[in-house]
Amino acid sequence: MVNFDYDVCVVGAGPVGSTISYYLSLEGLSVVLLDKKTKIGYPLQCAGILSNHINDVNELPKDIILNKVKGAFIHSPNHILTVEKDDDAAYIIDRIAYDQFLLNRAIDNGVKLINKKAVDFDIDEGSVILKNGEIIKSKIIVGCDGPNSVLSKYIGNTQDRFQASQLLVKISPEDMMSYRGVSEYSMDFVDVCLLEETLPGFLWFIPIGNDLYRMGMFSNESHKVQSEILTDYLKKNNLKFEIIEKYKGFIPIFNKNNDMVKSRAVLIGDAAGHIKPTSGGGLLIAFNACKWACEYILEAIEKDDLTILEKYPDKIMDEYQKEFSYQIKVQNALCMLTDDDIDYLFMKLKKNDGEKLISEYGDMDTQSLLIKESLKRGLVFKVMPSFLFKKVGKLFGF
Ligand SMILES: Cc1cc2nc3c(=O)[nH]c(=O)nc-3n(C[C@H](O)[C@H](O)[C@H](O)COP(=O)(O)OP(=O)(O)OC[C@H]3O[C@@H](n4cnc5c(N)ncnc54)[C@H](O)[C@@H]3O)c2cc1C
Repeated sequence: MVNFDYDVCVVGAGPVGSTISYYLSLEGLSVVLLDKKTKIGYPLQCAGILSNHINDVNELPKDIILNKVKGAFIHSPNHILTVEKDDDAAYIIDRIAYDQFLLNRAIDNGVKLINKKAVDFDIDEGSVILKNGEIIKSKIIVGCDGPNSVLSKYIGNTQDRFQASQLLVKISPEDMMSYRGVSEYSMDFVDVCLLEETLPGFLWFIPIGNDLYRMGMFSNESHKVQSEILTDYLKKNNLKFEIIEKYKGFIPIFNKNNDMVKSRAVLIGDAAGHIKPTSGGGLLIAFNACKWACEYILEAIEKDDLTILEKYPDKIMDEYQKEFSYQIKVQNALCMLTDDDIDYLFMKLKKNDGEKLISEYGDMDTQSLLIKESLKRGLVFKVMPSFLFKKVGKLFGF
């Protein structure tokens, strides 16, 4: 008879680890939560934009919301599309405060936090070995240890990632208006820029108030090159700026061949590559995954049957595989474009009511609806440079 110290040991007290710990503790399970850091949430590695669907998947206290946005200026090198929803489409949050809120919520509900690093595992025995040699034994080990997950590596997964860089910059309203080509200043819009040098990612400006923006990008380039791209972009666009802070991070690339479950181990969040391919956003998917993982972990413990855990990756694939595959196709299609092609595409979209269509069908979280509608209306055929038509057609099967 094996003796376990806890029902569940969660590795990583980021937003995902704290959320799954809270859900499991609500079900009456004993949960220990490990984090190698003592200052949870630092350093910031997030643009902090969450679609309003967040309200369906997790609690978001009002005092953590810094701003609300309802649209975007989408920039190519020489053109701008404006898309806008009737209501606020997304929240801009104080991500550090949010991570701390989620952790405190878990602790207040009985989760035990230990500030130690997990360095090794025995997933058949349920053992987590800490840096100081201490061993914690639990029925289930949940890996929420982010894009450099040691548990994911331990179970043999490959970990492909994009590098991501961000600046906190101050830009005057006058400069921002001139960059956007508008005469009225608004904090209700983000700016998104598609450039050949940022593909397969993009560049963003997220307004957080007081003329401050989180400006960032993710791409195949190194942090050093990305940092140069960001400052060059500001200069090229005549945006006078003051850099307040710099951040670096990683965005995992979802790999359907990786395991999310093995023996007593379960992965969630960045550790499992739960990231939207086109936007790099991870929190909404991961919070949904927390609900499903909680359900199956509880059932596996109650019935003492680890095979029940296999339902969790099946559920994730049922919910997201189709959308991810659309998004990966969009990303692959975009990667074929040069700056001139992107300009051509934007010019054609503007002429063919593309802004209206994107405003109506565009969604931060899912692109399949917009793609299907564009195909149905023949918009894809009208806006794409003709030499690309065959290649992109092959990707989407038309
Ligand atoms: C620049 C950038 C911008 C982004 N912008 C957005 C956005 O606007 N919206 C959005 O939804 N997503 C965004 N994301 C993605 C989002 O930040 C992640 O999906 C999210 O942080 C994942 O949470 P997590 O809890 O899985 O991992 P993390 O937040 O990485 O937390 C992992 C935790 O595990 C701990 N840990 C790691 N290893 C160990 C170990 N061995 N032992 C103990 N503890 C360990 C770490 O200290 C950390 O606290 C962005 C990412 C980047 C890089």
